[in-house]
Amino acid sequence: MMLIRTICPNRRPLLSMILNLHSSSYSSCAEIQAERTIRDGPRHDWTRDEIKSIYDSPLLDLLFHGAQVHRHAHNFREVQQCTLLSIKTGGCSEDCSYCPQSSRYNTGLKAQKLMNKEAVLEAAQKAKEAGSTRFCMGAAWRDTIGRKTNFNQILEYVKEIREMGMEVCCTLGMLEKQQALELKKAGLTAYNHNLDTSREYYPNIITTRSYDERLETLAYVREAGINVCSGGIIGLGEAEEDRVGLLHTLATLPAHPESVPINALVSVKGTPLEDQKPVEIWEMIRMIGTARIVMPKAMVRLSAGRVRFSMPEQTLCFLAGANSIFTGEKLLTTPNNDFDADQQMFKVLGLLPKAPSFSDDDFEAENCAKAVSSSG
Ligand code: SF4
Repeated sequence: MMLIRTICPNRRPLLSMILNLHSSSYSSCAEIQAERTIRDGPRHDWTRDEIKSIYDSPLLDLLFHGAQVHRHAHNFREVQQCTLLSIKTGGCSEDCSYCPQSSRYNTGLKAQKLMNKEAVLEAAQKAKEAGSTRFCMGAAWRDTIGRKTNFNQILEYVKEIREMGMEVCCTLGMLEKQQALELKKAGLTAYNHNLDTSREYYPNIITTRSYDERLETLAYVREAGINVCSGGIIGLGEAEEDRVGLLHTLATLPAHPESVPINALVSVKGTPLEDQKPVEIWEMIRMIGTARIVMPKAMVRLSAGRVRFSMPEQTLCFLAGANSIFTGEKLLTTPNNDFDADQQMFKVLGLLPKAPSFSDDDFEAENCAKAVSSSG
């Protein structure tokens, strides 16, 4: 008899029937939950068991049903192209074990000051001309507190890039409520702040800021009306249970993140995780397919580590539900896919670059301006 890898929690009362009936009873949890997602829309009350059962579904079934949810919630041909630029590199006080930008590790990376306006705008223009619709600026900081001059400079960059007709995203470390409001007023589309891994595994990776501090920043971003970009990294030495835990935290937030980057660790010499075994494509597909089913409307981004995957491997990720990528030579400080290879991949797969989206921006910016002035 064909084996089911797990019995879906929603099917447990029917266990005896499952064991006795015809082949349609061999439905995987991926199938059951994907059908439910398509029928009822996004949910925020996922249990960890439910997500684990989707994650543990037979891979081809997970891939197939991830694809079904993807096609229901999105134009399956559209893939968002984002360019990520490190506008302030290295010298970070945090101890994220995977990061070459931490000042605690000897990775040979030279700390640099905040890039000037001309250089940032030139990079944004270049990204736009190459087809990118979202420009993300990353700064290696714990937070932006006490960095008023730099923060004001970044607000300028946000305004100008937004005026170029691009979506703008920042990743600057932890934010305070007022800073989130100011970024919104400047026109920021999204703020990236990854949870990295599960709450349980997190202390093995970072000790200098807590999981709750990360969630607090996400709450400020959400309250300010900025889209939330938050995901994690696999290949940090975590268990599958931790991958499920990460997805569970994201999928049970009061509103799902609009973007969920799924990163595969790019291990860098000199960091504590330099010897980690590279993530396999099957692990990425499992993460992407599960993320797609539990957060159907999110842009699921195939992020760091994509450079290691061949075009057919990336194809499986798109099929499972990924619909966003980073383009450009580098991802902060690590190598990224070649521009021409990405163009070729879009052509071969019939993918279309997703246009920027500014829905409700005017309304939200107006409300936000009021909130900024009333909060002093
Ligand atoms: S991931 Fe960000 S916060 Fe952590 S060390 Fe690197 S730059 Fe600093």
